[in-house]
Amino acid sequence: MTSIPEIFASMAYGPAPESTKPAEAWLERHDRTFGLHVGGAWTDPGELFDTVNPANGRVLARVTQASPTDVDRAVVAARAAQPGWWALGGHGRARHLYALARAVQRHARLLSVVESLDNGKPIRESRDIDVPLVARHFYHHAGWAQLMDRELPGMEPVGIAGQIIPWNFPLLMLAWKIAPALATGNTVVLKPAEFTSLTALLFAELCEETGLPAGVVNVITGDGRTGAALVAHPGVDKIAFTGSTEVGRLIRVATAGTGKKLSLELGGKSPFIVFDDADLDSVVEGVVDAIWFNQGQVCCAGSRILAQEGIAPRLEEKLKARMETLRIGDPLDKAVDIGAIIAPVQLDKIRELVEKGEEEGAQLWQPVWSCPSEGYFYPPTLFTGVAPASTIAQVEIFGPVVVMMSFRTPAEAVELANNTRYGLAASLWSENINLALDIAPKLKAGSVWINCTNVFDAAAGFGGYRESGFGREGGKEGLWEYVKAAEGRGRGDAGKYAPDAVGKSRAKAGAASPPPRLPAAAAIDRTSKLYIGGAQVRPDSGYSLPVHDAAGRVAGEVGQGNRKDIRNAVEAAHAASGWARATAHLRAQVLYYVAENLAARRDEFVARLANLTGRSKKQGQEEVALALSRLFSYAAWADKWDGRVHHTPYRNVTLAMPEPLGVMAVVCPEEWPLLGFLSTTLPPIAMGNTVVALPSGRWPLLATDLYQVLDTSDLPKGVLNIVTGPREELAAILAAHDDVDAMWYWGTVEGSAEVERLSAGNLKQTWVSHGRGVRWDSGVGGEGERFLRHATQVKNVWVPYGE
Ligand code: ADP
Repeated sequence: MTSIPEIFASMAYGPAPESTKPAEAWLERHDRTFGLHVGGAWTDPGELFDTVNPANGRVLARVTQASPTDVDRAVVAARAAQPGWWALGGHGRARHLYALARAVQRHARLLSVVESLDNGKPIRESRDIDVPLVARHFYHHAGWAQLMDRELPGMEPVGIAGQIIPWNFPLLMLAWKIAPALATGNTVVLKPAEFTSLTALLFAELCEETGLPAGVVNVITGDGRTGAALVAHPGVDKIAFTGSTEVGRLIRVATAGTGKKLSLELGGKSPFIVFDDADLDSVVEGVVDAIWFNQGQVCCAGSRILAQEGIAPRLEEKLKARMETLRIGDPLDKAVDIGAIIAPVQLDKIRELVEKGEEEGAQLWQPVWSCPSEGYFYPPTLFTGVAPASTIAQVEIFGPVVVMMSFRTPAEAVELANNTRYGLAASLWSENINLALDIAPKLKAGSVWINCTNVFDAAAGFGGYRESGFGREGGKEGLWEYVKAAEGRGRGDAGKYAPDAVGKSRAKAGAASPPPRLPAAAAIDRTSKLYIGGAQVRPDSGYSLPVHDAAGRVAGEVGQGNRKDIRNAVEAAHAASGWARATAHLRAQVLYYVAENLAARRDEFVARLANLTGRSKKQGQEEVALALSRLFSYAAWADKWDGRVHHTPYRNVTLAMPEPLGVMAVVCPEEWPLLGFLSTTLPPIAMGNTVVALPSGRWPLLATDLYQVLDTSDLPKGVLNIVTGPREELAAILAAHDDVDAMWYWGTVEGSAEVERLSAGNLKQTWVSHGRGVRWDSGVGGEGERFLRHATQVKNVWVPYGE
């Protein structure tokens, strides 16, 4: 027996376990054996596998490995339910989402306990963070359902969403996926991760209890095979995935060319930057939340501490002292900070990487206390003396291991922070608001937390830059992942001036194989070169291709670009990255100036259009007039595509800022050689991207005629680069290029598939036409916000205030 004075002397924590009785009773009610939840009811259990409590290695229950037939059944159920769910209307859906939010709150304790049992995360986290955020997500999205008609006019649901989630935040990821899908009128088939199926099954039961129409939410369990079957199912219209970058790549390839909408939230190696004026006590607690929250099994974990030289030693010392006081152990104990690692396989991966860190010469530090011997535990770990290029500084460890490096200047901090292929999140600490707000836009990350870390909310978008994936979850920006333009809104056919039958047959023959007609030498006015870095340059191949007029005569020649030209163009586009930092006002001015210079040469362009396309002069005049109007539109948009300030329920402002994607490849439409070219290159440029464009293959002269217009318009060199030549071949080179950040493609079905498939290398965002035409002459379908949305990515910057 410990005496009271002894307790006061040691101030040690006694055990404070949360009862698991109601959770065990729930499991028992199901005989610890689960089927799938499809079409509003349980199926009979199929082939079963164990789900284990990571804190003690004991089997909690057995769940079904869903087969491809099961996947099909679930998709059919979702399909059957979708029209009715959409027809319910915004208010009808809002009532259901509200009911789900209430149900989550009513069962909050049970959900938290089951989550901690199945995942191993401390009850303090599941009870105080995960589950309240889940409820908040459903409340918030009940609101979006209610407001959809007004806030997303002309949009409709994508249809059936296949959703695949990881094991680190089983319920929270479920909410992030299901709430926006349901709000916008989709129905879902959700597959939880194989380690953590239980809370998704419990949630399915809640759906039934609240009277959600059968088939709106279907939960199927199983491992990667089930996920792959869901991805491959032709009845699925959208895949939303959170998980590893590896699997994200597989899914990008598997969905290429299928027309499925895709959002990926992948890995990270997020920087945690500490400037020398930061409040170090807050920083230490910040590190605890950054890397020991959920045992570091967090995709946005602050796993790289970058400390300014002056304070690095003091921070290290304070951190070590704090690490000694962290409590590891039974996740159901309310006084435990760190719970269990999900599974032995993850534990092995952590150990391997830690060994690698030591081999590479970094210094390892762990607290003196030891971990429980039962279950899968790993101690909080700090590495110092870490080289920026070493494995542990680059590879996502997904465990409680943080590396520490130092920097001298803010510029060096930015460079180190961005020295990763990922871009999920970043946290920065400084008492100087000017410095913090200067650094935040320079960090390549979807979320930037100033003097805070790992804060999430339904009102703010979350998602990656670069190889951390694309698409956002949360905030208005997250809704776009689940909607598409309603049919008949300025999209569809290429319009009344689409290529005529003559044009079509020649287009098939392709620019590289001209009709067997001898060129009339007199008709060749000149050979256009490529336009790279603001200069007209000869193609590396030394060859050119003929361009034919409407009568089949050679009207001119263009350079035959190749891989080397593409490489040079991409380099030139990178060198022009200062364009992103130019003021939006300046970008607008330049575009107005291009319009002015094009207007001055209107007649030349009209004549060229008439000659090449064989259309009337009037039609040529109309295309030039529309092109001028489009230039004005994007000059107008340049300084009007504003962000938002999200209402997150903390004492902070959350700035949602649209930022350029970087270097964009644009394969322009074949038709409308001038208007189509400008309609697809101007939005990226207006938003601060730099562009490598492949103009119309049939009529490239309308783009090459623009060189002089561009030269006289103050467009900085390298902002727009134009490469002519074999389009599909060049498009494939761009799609596979690791230094291209995003790609738009207007062309064939096959070309679209190829671009999506090849983009998997660096997971660049793509926007492809799948062979569908666009009404470029329409002010609704041919320009506007959807182009701007696809030319930008939203960064959420969290700025707390108050004492
Ligand atoms: P992690 O284990 O790092 O969270 P994974 O990407 O392995 O990441 O797992 C995330 C989710 O993806 C899990 O639900 C898993 O079952 C699923 N999954 C794994 N492989 C595939 C695949 N080839 N296709 C679709 N889903 C998969």
